[in-house]
Amino acid sequence: MKEDYYEILGISKSASAAEIKKAYRKKALQYHPDKNPGDAEAEAMFKKSAEAYEVLSDPNKRSRYDQYGHRAFEGGGFGGGGMNMDDIFSQFGDIFGGAFSGGFGGGGFGGGRRTVKGSNLRIRVQLTLEEIANGVEKKIKVKRKKLAKGTTYKTCATCNGQGQVTRIQNTILGRMQTAATCSACGGLGQIVESKPSNADVEGMLLTEETVSIKIPAGVVDGMQLKVSGKGNDAPGNGIAGDLLVAIEEKPHDTLQREGDNLHYDLYISISDAVLGTSKEIETVTGKVRIKIDAGAQSGKILRLRNKGIPSINGYGTGDLLVHINVWTPKSLSREQKDFFEKMSQDEHFQPKPEKEDKSFFEKVKDMFS
Ligand SMILES: [Zn+2]
Repeated sequence: MKEDYYEILGISKSASAAEIKKAYRKKALQYHPDKNPGDAEAEAMFKKSAEAYEVLSDPNKRSRYDQYGHRAFEGGGFGGGGMNMDDIFSQFGDIFGGAFSGGFGGGGFGGGRRTVKGSNLRIRVQLTLEEIANGVEKKIKVKRKKLAKGTTYKTCATCNGQGQVTRIQNTILGRMQTAATCSACGGLGQIVESKPSNADVEGMLLTEETVSIKIPAGVVDGMQLKVSGKGNDAPGNGIAGDLLVAIEEKPHDTLQREGDNLHYDLYISISDAVLGTSKEIETVTGKVRIKIDAGAQSGKILRLRNKGIPSINGYGTGDLLVHINVWTPKSLSREQKDFFEKMSQDEHFQPKPEKEDKSFFEKVKDMFS
């Protein structure tokens, strides 16, 4: 069981952005590897805190986490977990500002040079209700920038490979050292030395790649999944960006989704309603035959348990609700008309609703109670 992100940072679920940042700064300083050399437990806490901050500091990710928990970022190759040290230190610019680069950074971490991350790519994936219900692996062609073979880099002369230029200033507090990102290399510490002629200025080539995306069952329209490292490559020793996959649900011909439940409108003839029948119903996992008792009323709802959509959180599976509609013919022959006129005079065919033939609203109330 993964620990709760709020608990890791020691904050409440209603913590403000400022409180989250403050809590993370505290944890990051407490567990920083420079302060705890060789302490595996501190390093684990350091990483956990960074992961919690990565999610909770992003309003989109936070609301998904609040709604779906850790499951929001799971399923196949999706991110969430597994931040590496480079990811973590690349966050620090925002958190600690210039103070950080002065404070730490001797031990190979942080330092001046910033790890450059490639830009993210965004795609949409359209899924059928069946694919959503069962989970699916999609192979999708993505155009991403990849580092061209033969591109070489040399140390940036402006910053001597530090990625930063430092300035000493005299202030009332004494001499202060401030650091700014090197404009010649964009903080990379390296610049392109040679590259193939078809590569762009950063030594990249736009290439088409087939990416396999595992989509867990139960995803919701509008949800965004992350495939780590399948965005654009970064120059030099940077890390590739991510591929962000927006889920789009295709409308279904006969089934309507409502959360994890599905609704199906079944039309039966007057005679089937009177005599009873059995009908084949299409579900997201194949066809099933259902029995309709003699004397079925229009508006009756049959509940097929677990024939809906599995919950993305793993809390079971929704139901399929079959709504019975008795279909009334709009035109009749002379003989048919005679038949129904005879019926209309028969006392037996006058409506006599019983307790179980509740009104529509009472039934809806029952369904959700
Ligand atoms: Zn530079």
